Amino acid sequence: MVRTSFQARIASVLILLLLVVIGALYFAVQAATTASIRTQAREQLEVGTGVFGQLLDVHARQLRDAVQVLTSDFGFREAVASGDEATIRSALFNHGARINAGLVMMFDMDGKLTASTLAPLSVAQAERINGQLSQHGQSLLMPVDGRIYLLVQATVNAPVPIARLVTGFSIDEGFARELNQLTHLELTLTGSLEGQPDVRVSTLPDMPMITFDGDSGEVMHGDEPFLVQRLVIASGDGFRVQALLQRSLEQARGSVAALNRQILLIAVAALVASLLGALLLARSLSRPIRLLAGAAQRVGQGDYDVPLALDRSDELGSLASAFQSMQQGIAERERQLAHNALHDPLTGLPNRNLALERLSSAIMARRHIALLYLSIGNFRTVSESCEAGGGDRVMQQLAARLQAALRPADSLARLRGDEFVLLLDGADVDSAVATADRVQQLSMKPFRVDNLDIALDCRIGIAGYPSDGVTPEELLRRASIAMQDAGHLAGRIQVYECGRDAAQQRQVQLIRDLRRAAQRDELLLHYQPKLDLRNPACLQAEGLLRWQHPEFGMVSPGEFIPLAERTGSIQTLTAWVIEEGVRQLQAWRQRGQVVQLSLNISTEDLVDGELPTRVGRLLAHYQIPASQLIFEITESGVMLNPAVALQVLHGLREKGIGLSVDDFGTGYSSLAQLKRMPVQELKIDQSFIRELDDTSEDAVIVRSTIEMSHSLGLKVVAEGVELQRSLDLLDRWQCDSVQGYLISRPLTAQAFEAWMQRPLTSPVSLVH
Ligand code: C2E
Ligand code: MG
Ligand code: MG
Repeated sequence: MVRTSFQARIASVLILLLLVVIGALYFAVQAATTASIRTQAREQLEVGTGVFGQLLDVHARQLRDAVQVLTSDFGFREAVASGDEATIRSALFNHGARINAGLVMMFDMDGKLTASTLAPLSVAQAERINGQLSQHGQSLLMPVDGRIYLLVQATVNAPVPIARLVTGFSIDEGFARELNQLTHLELTLTGSLEGQPDVRVSTLPDMPMITFDGDSGEVMHGDEPFLVQRLVIASGDGFRVQALLQRSLEQARGSVAALNRQILLIAVAALVASLLGALLLARSLSRPIRLLAGAAQRVGQGDYDVPLALDRSDELGSLASAFQSMQQGIAERERQLAHNALHDPLTGLPNRNLALERLSSAIMARRHIALLYLSIGNFRTVSESCEAGGGDRVMQQLAARLQAALRPADSLARLRGDEFVLLLDGADVDSAVATADRVQQLSMKPFRVDNLDIALDCRIGIAGYPSDGVTPEELLRRASIAMQDAGHLAGRIQVYECGRDAAQQRQVQLIRDLRRAAQRDELLLHYQPKLDLRNPACLQAEGLLRWQHPEFGMVSPGEFIPLAERTGSIQTLTAWVIEEGVRQLQAWRQRGQVVQLSLNISTEDLVDGELPTRVGRLLAHYQIPASQLIFEITESGVMLNPAVALQVLHGLREKGIGLSVDDFGTGYSSLAQLKRMPVQELKIDQSFIRELDDTSEDAVIVRSTIEMSHSLGLKVVAEGVELQRSLDLLDRWQCDSVQGYLISRPLTAQAFEAWMQRPLTSPVSLVH
């Protein structure tokens, strides 16, 4: 396909248009001048016809006057009267020459030719002349003897008429030229006489034999067009004289030829000028368009740096400046997109992709590198205790704090939520641990957000290249495994250990199997007795969940409960535990044993507003009084959604179910805060109890907690009582109940039944 350029197209359209306009104009002028030339020529012919007639009249009058003079001449009359033929002939010659007559004839009164200046005429001719003259009056045009004559007759009186004198004036080229000079018309006279060749007189040099039958019209003579007017001047018996008045149209056009030439010149000049103008216009349009097209192509290829400016103030100029700002806008957005693709919008730190990229370039360069995988254990609690967006602000502050402490070669990235990764270039495991420790110290300093001082529980997992992996993804995964392990350690820092991948696999399988554990009858409830120090006869126990996994055997709740909480299966487990507990209470009750059972409720269970109703229905179904049931909640349990959690707790309390705070002392709440919750019991965490002795710091905490709880009207349970020493102290400090291996380990329902049958002794006597 032939591609015609925009410039060529504009130019050719404009030129074509101009050609049409100028051509039309030129031909319109031509047509108008031709029409006016014809009209003029026709008018000239009309005028010429009149002039021709008048010219003939003038000649006839002159001739008549001259003949009058001749006929009145006495000598001439004498000669005629004498009848002397020779005298008459000589008089005719002399006088004829005097008046410039080409022909003089004399007739007697009977019409007989008596003398003539011409060679002897035939009788018939003489008679025709005589006859026609007497018929037509005084003058007549007629062909005679090879010429056309204007004939005039006069009577010779002496004093009676004695003869008639006929004089002829030869109408020749001179006459024709005279008319031509007066009118600028060509004249051709034709005289036809029977039996004789036609006589022609013409102003045209080659005596054209124009054959024309109409009265007026246009004829061609050679290549030349003529407008003609035919006049029959005289006709009679066997003769005819016609005049053709001709006007050469070519000649007439000559008068406007100069004007025509000028018009043609102007048209050509206008055409050339417009051609140039069209080319210039097309160029001035196509050049900026080509420029813009080139720029668009460049922008398409991602080159935004070449500035585009057209030095013009018209629409193309504004198009160019719009294009320029579009180019800048695209460049800016592309920069932003490129930045966003590799950076975290909240902190401005590199994101996971950029971290992986940096890691892989270090691996390619075979540089030692250590990864610190950092996560905030209490992030959820923190975000929930702050106002909206508070969690984000804490993350921003943490990012800024860590960033400020980095060495130039290291880099920090935010992976998601509360997870960061720190790449330590050239670091080995030991220096990585040292850095992790520094980072942890930094993150432990409180953050001030929404008028709250927030302490972060920062866990760090460490993996190094090349010891712990050779691909970026592998290293990141292993550092993350180490970070999860770190969550279970007091120091909160863990270096990746080989074989942890298998643990991860186990975790995945546990998460999957947990959902079906209840259906498959793999769950059991064990019962750990609680001893009421004031009233040992009172039967109390804590229900503790056990999972008999088909492959892994007995799985500890310390392992699967957090998994269930994280993966959303805890509510199914809780429902099973409550039903199983209540069912067991009914079974014991039917055997006459009234046990007060404590069951553990997770934080996630407290967001379910329907819990109190469901438990109420269960208790009614198994006909168990609510006072036999206690729910243990952790301090942070209320934090997740305080409004709903408190509502659920009040709902449970209204049903008559007891509420207890588990693991007290490990969280952040104070006794004063607990007062706002509808709880009646507090379980001091085993970490304070296990190695309790009189002098330790724990002793102060435990003792004052017991005292303050009592003053707030709360009962106190001590968990993890393993030693008699602890029991003695708790008893002395008025602790209400104790639970721990010293009393009993968690037991199956059957074993617990047996335990209930034991002989009752004073708690303190357990020592003995
Ligand atoms: P917990 O509610 O604080 O339960 C007490 C835990 O301490 C039990 O561990 C118990 O076996 C253990 N224990 C009791 N006396 C002693 C002692 O003298 N020395 C030591 N070292 N430990 C003692 P267990 O059964 O492994 O349960 C661990 C945790 O799992 C529980 O802590 C509780 O938070 C959770 N859990 C257990 N069953 C359930 C349940 O049905 N639902 C929920 N949500 N959590 C449960
Ligand atoms: Mg408990
Ligand atoms: Mg506990």
